[in-house]
Amino acid sequence: MARLARATPSRRQWSRSARMSIGKVYLVGAGPGDPELLTLKAIRAIEQADVVVYDRLVSERILETIGDGVAQINVGKQADFHPVPQAEINDILVRLGRAGRTVVRLKGGDPFIFGRGCEEAAELEAAGIPYEVIPGITAAQGCAAAARIPLTHRGLATGVRYVTGHRKANEPLDLDWKSLADPDTTLVVYMGLSNIEEIVAELVANGLPIGTPVLAVCQGTTDRERRICTRLAMLPEAAREAAFSGPVLFIIGRVAGLALERSGHIDATTDAVPVVA
Ligand code: SAH
Repeated sequence: MARLARATPSRRQWSRSARMSIGKVYLVGAGPGDPELLTLKAIRAIEQADVVVYDRLVSERILETIGDGVAQINVGKQADFHPVPQAEINDILVRLGRAGRTVVRLKGGDPFIFGRGCEEAAELEAAGIPYEVIPGITAAQGCAAAARIPLTHRGLATGVRYVTGHRKANEPLDLDWKSLADPDTTLVVYMGLSNIEEIVAELVANGLPIGTPVLAVCQGTTDRERRICTRLAMLPEAAREAAFSGPVLFIIGRVAGLALERSGHIDATTDAVPVVA
């Protein structure tokens, strides 16, 4: 918070900033963790920034690339623990923009994929603050590439769907299970770890074969990446045993079978021994 106080303008600075020209906010995707997966545009925006406002998902190695003279504001959120509420984040961005700052709002993955970037964009728009969106490599693409599997592939998956497995407290997951339980498309579940039992039960109840391959990736593309390959029926147990710490992504579908194949477990739908890829 001390950093936050330093980076946001005081009342006196406000009146001064009113005479200054308006700033600009870059809503930037930091990618899944590996700093080399930042885009050139993202790097340039970070280099030019006065302030970087970042999330919990932005990896330490990416934060290390931020120059010494750049103010940093951590607005990191964790499930059920929101140190800085979204409304306040919006407010920080608007205030910094009004104060003439060049701001990078740095988010894990892509800012517009389960990133609430669009809400921030709407606030900036309403406040008349110029902003630009710089896309990032979303976790699905980063994790799939790290495991050397495609998300779509001729003969295996005609499409891919990204869904959130997170639900509001005491509410059921609001997903169209019937359409998601489609063996011809790849299903990527973000934020699904704590509800994985329910997710698997719903998919199986709606007809997705229990032997469908699954790749689970924790902290994908970072030095701490961990992966397990398994099959749908075994997934809850395998995920429990893995005791993952950090963000976890599930890639469910035939394409995950390519990772399973590499790990040597391809023969039957029942050979569902969880294996480390
Ligand atoms: N905007 C982000 C997603 C934010 S939602 C993006 O485009 O990637 C947070 C979820 O993303 C996590 O719960 C996890 O499911 C996934 N995730 C993000 N980074 C990840 C990583 N490095 N490895 C595995 N999953 C990740």
